[in-house]
Parts: sequence; C-alpha cells; structure tokens
Amino acid sequence: EAYIQAIDAANPAINAYVALTPEIARAQAKQSDERIARGQAGALEGIPLGIKDLFATKGVHTQACSHILDGFKPEYESTVTQNLFNDGAVMLGKLNMDEFAMGSSNESSYYGVVKNPWRAKGSNADLVPGGSSGGSAAAVAAQLCAGATATDTGGSIRQPAAFTGTVGIKPTYGRCSRWGIVAFASSLDQAGPIARDVRDAAILLKSMASTDSKDTTSVDLPVPDYEKAIGRSMKGIRIGIPKEYRVAGMPEEIESVWQKGIAWLKDAGAEIVDISLPHTKYALPAYYIVAPAEASSNLARYDGVRYGLRVEGNDITDMYEKTRAAGFGSEVKRRILIGTYVLSAGYYDAYYIRAQKVRTLIKRDCELAFNAGVDAILTPATPSSAFGIADEDLANDPVKMYLNDIFTVTVNMAGLPGIAVPAGLDHKGLPLGLQLIGKPFDEETLFQTAHVIE
Ligand code: GLN
Repeated sequence: EAYIQAIDAANPAINAYVALTPEIARAQAKQSDERIARGQAGALEGIPLGIKDLFATKGVHTQACSHILDGFKPEYESTVTQNLFNDGAVMLGKLNMDEFAMGSSNESSYYGVVKNPWRAKGSNADLVPGGSSGGSAAAVAAQLCAGATATDTGGSIRQPAAFTGTVGIKPTYGRCSRWGIVAFASSLDQAGPIARDVRDAAILLKSMASTDSKDTTSVDLPVPDYEKAIGRSMKGIRIGIPKEYRVAGMPEEIESVWQKGIAWLKDAGAEIVDISLPHTKYALPAYYIVAPAEASSNLARYDGVRYGLRVEGNDITDMYEKTRAAGFGSEVKRRILIGTYVLSAGYYDAYYIRAQKVRTLIKRDCELAFNAGVDAILTPATPSSAFGIADEDLANDPVKMYLNDIFTVTVNMAGLPGIAVPAGLDHKGLPLGLQLIGKPFDEETLFQTAHVIE
C-alpha cells in the first residue's frame, strides 16, 4: 500500500509507470501472506517490483511503449516475470522505456519522456534517466518499487542505472530466458534487474535467471546463489584496466571516478593490471549495424494484422504501410531503414558481414584478456552524467546520442556480463557509475567486486 500511494503521489511528475496494476499487486500480496503463514515463503515473497513494458505480462498492458502495440494484452507471461512471481514477487505496474528499447534517454517512448528523480545542484531543469530502461531506473531511484526488471541490448540496463545512482546488471547472454520479451536485436538482448544496491540486484537476478526450453539460447547451467559472492575476499582477484576506454573528450571527472574505483579495489586486496582491448573503437559502429539489422527483421511482424494498431487502407499493402507509418516513432523507423539497407543485396557483405567479423574480433579481445588471468574489467559506465531533456546537442543528432553507448556495447557484442555500480557524484551533484565486465557466466565476481565499489 505504501508503494501504491508513493506511485500515485510521484508518478504524474516522473512518468516512470505507463500502466498501474494495484489490484494485481494486492492479490499477489495476499497470496504471499498466505504462503508465509503456511511457512512456504519464496525468496521474493511480497517484494513489490516494477516490470519494464518490454516483458509480456498475461492480460496486462504490454506495448514496448509503442503506438503500434496499442491495446495489446498478451495471453502469456514472460519466463522472467513468471520466475519472479513463482518466488513471490508482486507486480506494481509496467514501466516506461524507449520505444522497442531503442534509445539512450527514454525520449523515444510513445508515452513521453521519464524524468530523472535527480537534479543538478541549484538547478530546476529536468534531466533524462537514460534509456532504454529509463522507467525502471527512475522508479527504483525514486523508491516507487523495491526493484525492477530491465533489458539491455547495448547498455539499456547499465546506462540508466549509472544516470540514476542505482545498480544494474546485464547478465551473460543466455543466463535469462528471452521468451516473452519483445525482441529488439535477438543476439544481443538480455534481461536483468535494476536495484537499489548490489545485494538486491544479486537476489533479483537469481530469481530471474533460468534455463528454458522455450528459448533455445538460454543455457542449461546451474544458477549460483549470487548473494553469497558479496563480501568475499578480493585477494587474488585481478582487475584489468583497458587503455582504450580513455576516450578523447571524456570529462576529467569520469577519469577521476575511474581512478577512485581502481584505488578502492586495490585497497580491498585486488591486483590491478593494464590491458588492451584493441578493437574497442569499432564496437559502436558495428553495434549500430548489427542491432538495426536484427531489429528490421524482428519488427516485420507488426503488420496491423497480428497485434495492436490497424489503420485501414485500400488494400492489404496500403493497410500495412499506413499502420506502420502511424504506429512506429521516428527512431524505430530510422533503425528499420538502416537495418533493411545493411541487409540488402549488394550491401550485406560490405556492412552486415563485416560488422559480424568485427564482433568476433571484439569478443576475442576480451577472451585474450581473460585467458591471461584477468577476472574482471573495470571501465567507466558512461561518458557523462545524466543530460537534459531535449538536449539541443543530442536531440537532433542521432549519432551523438548513439555515442552514449560507447562504453557499454562491447559487453553485448561479446555476450559477456556487465554491471553498473554507483561510484560517486560529479561537480553538479549527479551520480556517476563504473562498469565491471566479467567472464561468461561469472556474474558472481561482478557482484563481489561491485560491492567493494558501492
Ligand atoms: N542505446 C542503445 C540503442 O539505442 C541500446 C539500447 C538497449 O540496450 N536496449 O540501441
């Protein structure tokens, strides 16, 4: 009830939730009480969560914050949300996001921008919460839920976590089932939690992760008790510092928070080693070929027949065109155009195949570092703190907006786990995050190390 009241009071200003489900929350909470009374409490009994609008929730608003999915209420539950509910979690509502998870500022949502609960010192200007999981991050930061589900294709868990002083982890590709999550770029998409601290993130990920016969890319590996990794000694842990992450024009404050993180880990007993990930600079351009290519294919299914919106036309082709013209926002259309172009005959080899080769090289860079004895890699999470809504520099320049993902996309291209953890404030009093990148399926080392930084 306290969370429902807090949402009623604050959500009109923050716009983190696009659909509220208080009746479902109350019914689930009642069942939690009953299970607790019977001595059958699950790991998340009665914990109120917000669910990103990308996750299919049975009978409940699921629109990926797009106009084209108007009125869509799935007949099925995503595996991740089902796992959470099986452990006793309670759903407060569906959270705002960039349309189809395409964006870094939550400004592409059909439901409007989310406002970051943080403001710069002495300023009243509204800031973005980051994206695409902007609603998830803002809701957690404003305490409008105890934790949230999110997804990350190129940074959409870690960048909003960094912008809001929260913790977000993108697990290894395959750790969580993608079944029932609206697809953006299927070879990059992963679900993960955004939470107030590292321990909460560890507890949530344990519940979310599972192998699933409905998603053949989910792995059949036991899910460790991540919470146990927190507080483990850092003796013998080797942290790699990649020189390629020192990018031109990066604010001095980002560098200094990075140095602070290095010092904290050293103090805790970790060994710090310089490493090189030479293909880092190609990760962003390659990502912005692979992700739109997969998106253009995945989004072909929105045709005015199967889901949501339909704008009538003279014939079926006309109906498709009118529906897609009216239903998709401009960022989504841009991605479909880019993706269709790079997959078309004549350009496929020059762009798509080349980007896939670059992807292999990026993956190999990380493998070489891990094979040389590095346990985790420490980098800044983002090249800046949260920026303003409708920022003049970014709003009209999609490529500049894409640069926000410069530190996060490598992790998705390589399929590795990555966590963003708050590490301090900048001169404006806004949160800055650090990122830790781990070996495949070694989320434990990330929780262990991130806890030293938080
Ligand atoms: N900002 C990136 C993009 O727009 C990443 C989005 C995401 O991780 N879902 O593609």
